[in-house]
Amino acid sequence: MRPDIVVVGGGIVGCCVALELATRHRVKVVVLERAIPGAEASSAAAGILGAQVEAHELEGAPFDRDLFSFMIAARARHASLDVELVERVGFGTGYRPAGALKTTMGDVAALHAKYAFQKALARVAFLDGAEARQLEPALSAEVKAAVHFPDDGQVDPPLLLRALHQACVASGVELRSGAMVRGVRVEGQRARGVDLVDGVLEADRVVVAAGSWSSLVGNLPTGLRKVHPVRGQIVQVETRPPIVRGVVMGDRGYVLARADGRTLLGSTMEEVGHVKEVTAGGVHQVLTQALALLPALASAPISGTWSGFRPAAPRPILGATFVEGLYVATGHHRNGVLLAPESGRLLADLVVTGRCDRDLSAFSPIE
Ligand SMILES: Cc1cc2nc3c(=O)[nH]c(=O)nc-3n(C[C@H](O)[C@H](O)[C@H](O)COP(=O)(O)OP(=O)(O)OC[C@H]3O[C@@H](n4cnc5c(N)ncnc54)[C@H](O)[C@@H]3O)c2cc1C
Repeated sequence: MRPDIVVVGGGIVGCCVALELATRHRVKVVVLERAIPGAEASSAAAGILGAQVEAHELEGAPFDRDLFSFMIAARARHASLDVELVERVGFGTGYRPAGALKTTMGDVAALHAKYAFQKALARVAFLDGAEARQLEPALSAEVKAAVHFPDDGQVDPPLLLRALHQACVASGVELRSGAMVRGVRVEGQRARGVDLVDGVLEADRVVVAAGSWSSLVGNLPTGLRKVHPVRGQIVQVETRPPIVRGVVMGDRGYVLARADGRTLLGSTMEEVGHVKEVTAGGVHQVLTQALALLPALASAPISGTWSGFRPAAPRPILGATFVEGLYVATGHHRNGVLLAPESGRLLADLVVTGRCDRDLSAFSPIE
């Protein structure tokens, strides 16, 4: 059957859009995924819901208030998504609102200044080193100060993706693996579907949600904002009982633990194109940062390493293009797991009704 809407890319963004389209708008959706749904950035992610810890000001560059408000709303959406997925498929996302702690061993005043703007907007506490160690006893004695965000949290991305895929299928979304989209079909300034390697799929509306590959999808109009890959490497170790309660961030790296003791150490930010490797230098960097933060990690056995590509752009890219019926949902960079459920809700409304309850002009795909 001819779908109403085709979504290109079966990562967290594409699947959140598809689930919202199918469940709330009751339209026929096909998600085209060239490989395995969820197997790229979305499963590589640590799963930090860092609406506040990720929102910091740098000298002379105030944090984008539109984006901050979007991040806060997205974090709240994760609580309801977890419940919704349990109802739909019997298991949730591993959602844990256990807080995040941003620490420093260096310039305390600089750390506090980065987050001072949040005092008027959200719950945040400025701590000295001893207070930080009360929250996270395994923290290094070298940590001088921290900022605590009690409402930030985490999910388990591979679990979330499994639940999301099952919910999509149960809601009537057709999820096609091995479907490589060559380009968007455009006739007379209207989207008409997509060209696949082995045929054509017609539809009146197309959503490009191909992560860090989005700008490589063929036949997109010129003048759209671009996305590029930023590689991140993660090292997984085992700590039982879990070495930390919430997310712990240092001046650069971070550590978080699942309830079962899997402990993720992250991550690099590398401009190396789509080269999917775990490197000696990357692992060295991640381990050096994590062990400085939590010295007891030195005896933890390593149980995995992986890398993935963040779809990088200065701001998320979300909305309509010049071509009628063609939409883009990408550029979620370091915070795609956090943002995707809310992006999916907003974009689904926009695609079907022409409007949504947030002003998306700051995130327009048009340059
Ligand atoms: C190491 C690492 C750690 C991270 N940690 C966090 C975190 O803690 N918190 C957080 O919020 N975010 C985190 N992120 C960011 C987050 O993972 C991404 O922003 C998010 O997963 C992007 O989702 P996506 O659906 O846009 O992209 P992807 O998950 O990459 O999905 C895009 C999909 O499109 C498919 N595709 C591409 N081209 C085509 C085509 N032509 N035809 C068909 N299919 C195609 C791909 O195969 C892929 O499956 C992290 C990322 C990395 C790499």
